[in-house]
Parts: sequence; structure tokens; C-alpha cells
Amino acid sequence: MTTTRFAPSPTGYIHIGNLRTALMNYLIARKAGGTFILRIDDTDPERSKEEYVDGIKSDLEWLGLHWDRIERQSERLDRYQAAADSLREMGRFYEAFETPTELDLKRKKQLNMGKPPVYDRAALALTDAEKETLRAERGDGVWRFKLDRERIEWRDGILGDISIDAASVSDPVLIRGDGQVLYTIASVVDDTEMGVTNVVRGSDHVTNTATQIQIIEALGGKVPAFAHHSLLTGPQGEALSKRLGTLALRDLRAQGIEPMALLSLMARLGSSDAVELRSDMAELIDGFDIERFGSAPTKFDVDDLFPLTARHLASLPLAAVQEAVVEAGVPDEKAAQFWDVTRQNISTLKDLGPWWEMMRDGAVPQIDAEDAAFVKEAMALLPDGPFDDQTWGAWTSAVKEATGRKGRGLFMPLRKALTGQAHGPDMSALMPLLQVVKARG
Ligand code: GLU
Repeated sequence: MTTTRFAPSPTGYIHIGNLRTALMNYLIARKAGGTFILRIDDTDPERSKEEYVDGIKSDLEWLGLHWDRIERQSERLDRYQAAADSLREMGRFYEAFETPTELDLKRKKQLNMGKPPVYDRAALALTDAEKETLRAERGDGVWRFKLDRERIEWRDGILGDISIDAASVSDPVLIRGDGQVLYTIASVVDDTEMGVTNVVRGSDHVTNTATQIQIIEALGGKVPAFAHHSLLTGPQGEALSKRLGTLALRDLRAQGIEPMALLSLMARLGSSDAVELRSDMAELIDGFDIERFGSAPTKFDVDDLFPLTARHLASLPLAAVQEAVVEAGVPDEKAAQFWDVTRQNISTLKDLGPWWEMMRDGAVPQIDAEDAAFVKEAMALLPDGPFDDQTWGAWTSAVKEATGRKGRGLFMPLRKALTGQAHGPDMSALMPLLQVVKARG
């Protein structure tokens, strides 16, 4: 059965970059009728925070990316130790004692000689007695996995055929000197034991994948199908990594972005299919195909989310936005009419409040100097409220009659006088909601 996982480290909130990972894994699982696991990669007790675990969960819930199972690496440490023991027994695991400074020096030397900076496996030559001495001097060493120096190949779901020479990669450290198990092995053990069949993640993980394939094989697991999506860049192709902090989902949400707008964009951005606004998750699942994604960096522009949000909102019935309408202060009996009038004229639900305020309290009129006399004359003809859906038609006819103005020259100054803006809802529909007209003077 198809099983995927989203495996965030709880060291920060979900941002636009890892949202893509979550969404792709979710869609693959749902499309195949499989299982989607939320796996919290919290083997680092110093950097992992409960606050982020809660944040990740609530962000996924807000998006509607519901998981079938949740797993925490911190609760599975004994499994990782068992895997480490097997690697040790197989002779694929060795202890190394170099300090970070020594390693750095080795790397610099190699680079100076034009060689790739690959760990030289000096630790493999240590005798037991030498290891004892080093352990006494420096404490426990790190544990490295001994790669087989051959080519590692896989067919990547996005990047196509990949071939990496293991000799160009350092033997990965899987356990730190202080005993902390590292992601590289924890992830492999989890993927194998949880029956993960498909792994989608960012292309920054390609080298990890190469080493993980060898670890999976050493442990007798089944290698999942891997796909690595391209990095996101800003609209100009600039690196986004530094800005990702400001592109956290909760910030986008606070700006009024709607989940469907965000998901519709991210399910297609970087693929050869055009972005289409989807109305629900079923459509999104149906229209998703990982094969359509390319390896080129993907340009992301946060501004694209606003028109999609506006279109999504315009399509919604009152029931879907009731809460926001109530929050804007609109009384129940006016809610349906209010939503009908505003839904085509908002960019996010945050715009509802200002619209209602304008209707309730009246807008600061916008009157151009050349229209001042005309507006004054028109205002004298405006009947007392309450207005109804006939008011605008009847009033503008009377104004036309009295002033001889017609078309835009008639309607625009009146719209601006009543609403304070040049654009907005159909005035016939708006009038019944308008309770105060400041332009009356
Ligand atoms: N915790 C890892 C990360 O956030 C997971 C990578 C993976 O999907 O294996 O980068």
C-alpha cells in the first residue's frame, strides 16, 4: 500500500518551502488511497520545541492536510539503537575521534590538493588500544557508516536517473559523540519499519538519499521511490532561504490567504501544468501528478496568492464565510445581502470589516473639484433612507433629468461621493446596505 510521510523537524514553523513537501506527500498518499504519516523528527532535544510541534499540527489542520498517523522519533530511540547495533555487527559502523577542527583541516588540505573533501577513513586504521586512549582523552567518538564505494543509482520521480559515486561522499555520521542519534539513520529506520513507499523531499536531500539507500540496503529494508523537488526562489530567481522565515504559513494566514488558494498554487507551481484554482481537496488530488514537475528552480511570488484568494472567496456561499461576516460586525439579518454585495470586491476576508464600517457609518466622500456643484445638486435629490434596490436607479434618473449628465460622468462622481472610492459593488445592490451618506453635508 502506498505510504508517504511528512517529516518536519520541530525547530520552526511550516513555511512555503516545506509546505510543498507536505502537500506532495499528502497528495500522493490520497491519490493512491494510501496512508499519510506525520512524522516529527525530534531527535535533537536542544533544538526541538513542543511549541513548533503544536504549530506544525495546527498549520496542517488549517490547510486540511489531515494525517492518518503521527509518529515521534524521540519515542523510537531504542529502534535506532537496535539498527546501529546491527550495522556494528556487520562491520559497517565505525567509531571516529577527529575533532571538528581536525576535520576542517583535513578538508582544507584536500581542497588545496584539488581533491574532493571526503573523510579519509583514518579512524578505520585505529587499533583497539588507540581507540581506548582516544576515548579516555576525548570521550566517546562519533559513529560513521562505512559506505560501499560504488555508484549509487536510482530513478528519481522528478530528477530522472541519478547516479552518485559513493567515493565522492564522506561516510555519514549517524550517532554523535554524546550518543544523540542523527536524522540520517532515524529516518531510514522509520521509513523501513513504517512501510514508507514514496518519499518526496527537497533537492537539498539528494546526497542524503544516496547514503540512505546504502543504509536501507544494509539493514535489509526496501528502498522507497524517491522524488526531490526543486528549490523555491523568489520571483526574480533570487534565493528564498533567508526569507523563508517570513513566509511562514501562519504569516500568510494572518494576511488573509485562504488555504485553497495556497494549495492550488503549490500543487502546480514548478510543474508543466498551469495553475488552476481548485474548489476542494478532491479536485486537487485528482489534478495532481508528480511526473509533471521539473528539476529547474521554481519561482514563487507571494503576490500570486491574493488574486487566487479573491477568486476563491468570490465563489463561496455565505455559509462558508459566516464567521468572518459576523466578525466584521454585520447583523444577521443583513448578512446574506452584505456577502452578496461584497464577495466580488474583496481580496481577503479582512476587507469585510472596512466595507461594513463604510456602510454603517458612511464613507468619507471623494469629490473632485469639478464635480462639487454637481454632487451638491444630486444630494439634494437623494431621498431619505432607508434605501432599497430601486433607490439608485430612481435617483440617478432624477439627477440625469435635472443636470443633463449621463454615463460615467453621472455615475462615477456619485459612487465616489457615496462610497469614497472609484471601484466597488454594483450600486443598486449596495444602496440598501448604506445607512449613512456623509456627502449629504
Ligand atoms: N526532518 C527532515 C527535514 O526536515 C526530513 C527530511 C526527509 O523528508 O527525509 O529536512
